Amino acid sequence: MKTLLCGGAGYIGSHMLKWLVERGHSVTVLDNLSTGHREAVQWGEFVQADLLDPASLESAFAGRSFDAVIHFCARSLVGESVAQPYDYYANNVAGTLNLLEAMKRHGVSKLVFSSTAAVFGHPVQDFIDEEHPKAPINPYGASKLMVERILADAAQAHGLRSMALRYFNAAGASPESDIGESHQPETHLIPNALRAALGTGPGLKVFGSDYPTPDGTCVRDYVHVDDLAQAHEQALAYMDTHEGAHAFNLGNGQGFSVREVIDAASRVAGRPVPYELAPRRAGDPPVLVASSQRARAELGWSPRYTSLDDIIETAYRWHRNPRY
Ligand code: UDP
Repeated sequence: MKTLLCGGAGYIGSHMLKWLVERGHSVTVLDNLSTGHREAVQWGEFVQADLLDPASLESAFAGRSFDAVIHFCARSLVGESVAQPYDYYANNVAGTLNLLEAMKRHGVSKLVFSSTAAVFGHPVQDFIDEEHPKAPINPYGASKLMVERILADAAQAHGLRSMALRYFNAAGASPESDIGESHQPETHLIPNALRAALGTGPGLKVFGSDYPTPDGTCVRDYVHVDDLAQAHEQALAYMDTHEGAHAFNLGNGQGFSVREVIDAASRVAGRPVPYELAPRRAGDPPVLVASSQRARAELGWSPRYTSLDDIIETAYRWHRNPRY
């Protein structure tokens, strides 16, 4: 199968790339390298192009044929999206429209789209399933939900088959440590905790210890990047037999508090994570935990990494000696 992987130089995209190539897929990566790393594209073919530049986008399609597109290109920081909403709507919505138009021109009719738990906004139930109300509370989540709506319209109008996969907290790294998580600046909990433990980053700030949760810190559902990659590959197969626009949630179904993550990171690193308590971060709901029953039942998805320590262990190996 020939796949165009948009955003394949990023954290989740590069793990997707490795996963697909190791399973015999032929992959072309498209990335503008705004936040991704050229060093992460260690497999397949690379085209530097920007979804907001139609000429460069066309260059990725010209002379190639694709069975499907997997689309990770996006700006993805909640706080930044609140400060710079135009950038978020331009990149995430207008950029995706350009991609959809290029797919239509070139007769590519299957898309796996990287969506997010942020489409739900504040949770109204313990386990967030696909029926949970969608009420995003920031431009990032709103931009992803807009694309989900566009995909439903595209199914009706143009017969596009699509699968939006809504990730909860992507975490971990390839067990071989050849690729991993490297954001600039790093805002995510697990990398920040490990870098604090290793002394390669500042002490961790715990954003909020007065939430209505058992230990007062926020609870999240951490899911390994390779398990996300597995779901995308299964989504490609699902679209062979299913028309229309679909959306599935992807998480482990188990919540861990910030304090539990700190304890696990200390166990894995064999040394304490230096941290201090800090005020709440704007826009953080107290608890976000997925119900992934639908992905399990319909895709046959079965995450391999169910232990938080095992997920953090793969991240730790990367952060001990990051290649980029
Ligand atoms: N968090 C924290 N310190 C950090 C980074 C994150 O306390 O340096 C908290 C954050 O407030 C949230 C949880 O850890 O409650 C997970 O945050 P992350 O940014 O990793 O993912 P998000 O849930 O925002 O997608």
